Amino acid sequence: MKTDVIIIGAGPAGIFTALEMIRRGSHKKIVLVEKGQPIEKRHCPKPQTGCCVSCRPYCHITTGFSGAGAFSDGKLSLSCEVGGDFPNLIGSAAAQSLIDYTDTIYLEFGADTHVEGIGNERDVRDIRKRAIQAGLKLVDCPIRHLGTERAQSLYTAIQHYLEAHDVELVFGWACENLIIEGETCLGVLLRRGGETREIRAAHTVVATGRRGADWLECLCAEHNIAHQPGTVDIGVRVECRNEVMEEVNRVLYESKLIGYPKPFKNKVRTFCQNPGGFVSQENYDNDLAVVNGHSYKDRKSENTNVSILCSHNFSVPFNQPIAYAQKVGEMTNMLANGHILVQRFGDILDGKRTWERELAQSNVRPTLPDAVAGDITAAMPYRAMINIINFIQAMDIVVPGFAAPETLLYAPELKFYSNRVKMDAALNTSISGLHCLGDSSGWTRGLMMASAMGVMMGRSLAKTE
Ligand SMILES: Cc1cc2nc3c(=O)[nH]c(=O)nc-3n(C[C@H](O)[C@H](O)[C@H](O)COP(=O)(O)OP(=O)(O)OC[C@H]3O[C@@H](n4cnc5c(N)ncnc54)[C@H](O)[C@@H]3O)c2cc1C
Repeated sequence: MKTDVIIIGAGPAGIFTALEMIRRGSHKKIVLVEKGQPIEKRHCPKPQTGCCVSCRPYCHITTGFSGAGAFSDGKLSLSCEVGGDFPNLIGSAAAQSLIDYTDTIYLEFGADTHVEGIGNERDVRDIRKRAIQAGLKLVDCPIRHLGTERAQSLYTAIQHYLEAHDVELVFGWACENLIIEGETCLGVLLRRGGETREIRAAHTVVATGRRGADWLECLCAEHNIAHQPGTVDIGVRVECRNEVMEEVNRVLYESKLIGYPKPFKNKVRTFCQNPGGFVSQENYDNDLAVVNGHSYKDRKSENTNVSILCSHNFSVPFNQPIAYAQKVGEMTNMLANGHILVQRFGDILDGKRTWERELAQSNVRPTLPDAVAGDITAAMPYRAMINIINFIQAMDIVVPGFAAPETLLYAPELKFYSNRVKMDAALNTSISGLHCLGDSSGWTRGLMMASAMGVMMGRSLAKTE
């Protein structure tokens, strides 16, 4: 089969590429390949089973039309300071203008018009003052919160729009390899069970998300696609009562704080704050169970969760950040019998594990009931653990009570950003006809930035008419 543009991965990066090509009036034939299912067939059985049953062959939370976006919390970060390093590739002003434009598309497809985290200047000033005292930087980031339910209906509308505009959506097929001859990409090889299929195209766009990160790393090595080792973030998800987080939740909705705690001075940051939210588990294909967080528009818990992540970079002789983080995750899972570990902050400082019965003694009740009480420090590398402890104690100055003994820490929270594929500002890789987008390219790490990168790709492909 031959087409003009083939897009691998129907996450936000892939779908906004197709969407923008259509909006720009492109007549190119677009094939969008997704190894998961259309949005209406995605279903996580956890609400019925009460616990994660590690769906095979893939997890529906992260796989299928709209990628990790559909079942995500749908928090669109409207500042180019948040969501990845894409602005370093194209410049901050260009990235911000793309984000502003992409936001209008989200609004057209039904996003809530309300934006969190704007106004309240005097309250923000007070929080910033405390952040300065704590040695942390407060990043301003307005948030448009879709909520998990609304994200699903919005992406359903986009799926229908693409279908109505003759984008060929191929579900249930996984891209196995790229067809590369010399320095040119000629298309892709797809697999579904025992069947294989080749699609040739003038432009191949790989947008396989975080889950496609190690697959893309192998392809980069096999085909000599220029890349550099990426960053991995290793950390925990912290959960405390809404009362503790009340002020930052109200004023900022999402507090983006960055610090470089002593003695290592590595970058440590807060990420993905969910007021009234729920801690969740997601499973990667290799059975790795990692923690995440959701918040729903209408269903609220008594807790707020937020992740604290430490960035890890490696140089010589070791350059496999993904493998490193996976080992940390595996070890943590091992201690929790394949599940997520949870421990009270006070127990970490006291050098003891947390027992199940002790969880019931606190004000804060875990919103991930199948997390196993235990000892995170037995699996977390010393450097990451010290970074996390010192950061939480600094956060306590900004949010009094954050470092309370009962505060819950869940692990492993891992963010794989993939190798960073080397690209020019027009998103061309070192292989002619091959473009890499979104989280799998190593340049983005969030819904809005991945979508905006897709928009830019769409414009560029529409231009080559
Ligand atoms: C639970 C959860 C909550 C999140 N909440 C937020 C949030 O509130 N705000 C935010 O900004 N970000 C959030 N994120 C992150 C956000 O979802 C991602 O940054 C974003 O979806 C990345 O978009 P993408 O298009 O690069 O990749 P993805 O959304 O991961 O999509 C990639 C797609 O490619 C498919 N694929 C992978 N490999 C292949 C292959 N070989 N062949 C064919 N198809 C393939 C996958 O099935 C997937 O559908 C969350 C993520 C998760 C998991």
